[in-house]
Amino acid sequence: MGRRPVSKIVIVGGGTAGWIAAAALSKVLGRLIDIELVESDQIGTVGVGEATIPQIRLLNGVLGIDENDFIAKTAGTFKLGIEFSNWGALGERYLHTFGEVGINLAGIHFHHYWLRHVQAGGTASLWDYSLHDRAAYAGKFARMERVGNTPMAGLAYAFHFDAGLYAKLLREYSEARGVRRTEGLIRSVELDTESGFVRAVTLSDGREVSGDLFIDCSGFRGLLIGEALGSAYEDWSDFLPVNRAWAVPCESAGPLLPYTKSIARGAGWQWRIPLQHRTGNGHVFSNAHISEQAAVDELMQSLDGNALGDPKLLKFVTGRRREFWKKNCVSLGLASGFMEPLESTSIHLVQSNVNRLIALFPQMGIREADVAEYNRQVGYEFERIRDFLILHYALTRRDDTDFWNYVRTMPIPDTLRERMDVFRAHGRIFRDQEDLFKETSWLQVMVGQGLVPEGHNAMADLIDDAQLAEFLANVKAIAGRAVEALPSHADFIAQTCPMPAGMMA
Ligand SMILES: Cc1cc2nc3c(=O)[nH]c(=O)nc-3n(C[C@H](O)[C@H](O)[C@H](O)COP(=O)(O)OP(=O)(O)OC[C@H]3O[C@@H](n4cnc5c(N)ncnc54)[C@H](O)[C@@H]3O)c2cc1C
Repeated sequence: MGRRPVSKIVIVGGGTAGWIAAAALSKVLGRLIDIELVESDQIGTVGVGEATIPQIRLLNGVLGIDENDFIAKTAGTFKLGIEFSNWGALGERYLHTFGEVGINLAGIHFHHYWLRHVQAGGTASLWDYSLHDRAAYAGKFARMERVGNTPMAGLAYAFHFDAGLYAKLLREYSEARGVRRTEGLIRSVELDTESGFVRAVTLSDGREVSGDLFIDCSGFRGLLIGEALGSAYEDWSDFLPVNRAWAVPCESAGPLLPYTKSIARGAGWQWRIPLQHRTGNGHVFSNAHISEQAAVDELMQSLDGNALGDPKLLKFVTGRRREFWKKNCVSLGLASGFMEPLESTSIHLVQSNVNRLIALFPQMGIREADVAEYNRQVGYEFERIRDFLILHYALTRRDDTDFWNYVRTMPIPDTLRERMDVFRAHGRIFRDQEDLFKETSWLQVMVGQGLVPEGHNAMADLIDDAQLAEFLANVKAIAGRAVEALPSHADFIAQTCPMPAGMMA
């Protein structure tokens, strides 16, 4: 392939993906590489993407960003998980939290002891033993590695933040490390006639921006990876049929919740993301099952406070690029593929793929083996996330609308079917290295959606009934005492990371 060493990177696009790439590459490669980012104010960014998962803390760590400063500057809040309402059945709810449930005992996952309890007729909920669930519903939060001197792990958390403020922060960070920003509308992409590599992008005023490696962060359109290089888009709409979202912020109302809400509607679902200065809302839906007008009406009628602007419509097709890296172009963010924001995975995918690019960085020139390895790893992570998202739909028991009837009965990937069957039998969950979601996530969503296994790990039977009852009671008490001692989420933010008063306006 291209034997030319890479000394100049051109990033096309200045949305969240473009600026994360710029920040991470400028931090890690420093003066070894010249980075230029091209974006156009005329096109703008999608401007949504406000909920994250705990992996974002790793990115902050690599960038050396102080967490309190980060939260204050992005009007952020803490997130312990996502509450799913009306997903399993109308009226039901559960929290997919970021933490372990309970305490493992004798090398056996806690949930096997809980399953033994339930299978013997016990009525305690799995979430009675979840520190995260109890803290979330008490509206409490603090940073906590462990619960006192007990074996219970502390709180795993992520953030909600204002997407516009986040992009601004990353831009300042990148420019301070030498990234050059060029404002301009890209009119065409120039390919080398022999190699088919991207040679340059030409702006509408005739300027050319050339480089050795191009990172396509141009959004859904995939200006380089799709339009210029022809990497096809694999459509996953049969599995994940939602394809539109209305998004609108509103005034905050009520206490500051430390979790995202996902409320299932007739043809999709609605998010609520609490920030310090407002609440982010969106209705994600399938336009084959509800009209755009009916979807926006439903959203606007269910806001907690006054709308702070007009609703914005976003259109998307769930799926992925066949080749995420083709020739000398690596796609990131929406240009590389998109899955609905149900589990807040898009920003994570940007960051994990920048990590992969750094690990496989082609400083000696682009080699087929590196490109193939990158594409294999990214494809695998995309597919496992896809399966995890489908799980939420496939396990519904709802039969009240055509949309829910479709997703409940649609064919699902074999990889997902196998996982569900293994869990259904003995409550076992296995996970591969590249799987984003841990056992605890699969557990909570499967049980939360109503899939309770028929059996449990035989080793959970090694303690007697009295010991089991005492163990479960202790775990519950430890979680309860820990939550009592926590400050409220709002107080914790006010004391450690409030947004500057001037930003409130
Ligand atoms: C409804 C919805 C909700 C979401 N919620 C979440 C969430 O909660 N959590 C999460 O992690 N992710 C979420 N996402 C995904 C998240 O918003 C995106 O992954 C993230 O914003 C990255 O977008 P991007 O940078 O790839 O693209 P964009 O924001 O679209 O940026 C594209 C950039 O390319 C530039 N560009 C394009 N064409 C040209 C051209 N011809 N010339 C010059 N410049 C050009 C534009 O100017 C812009 O700077 C959500 C997405 C949607 C659609």
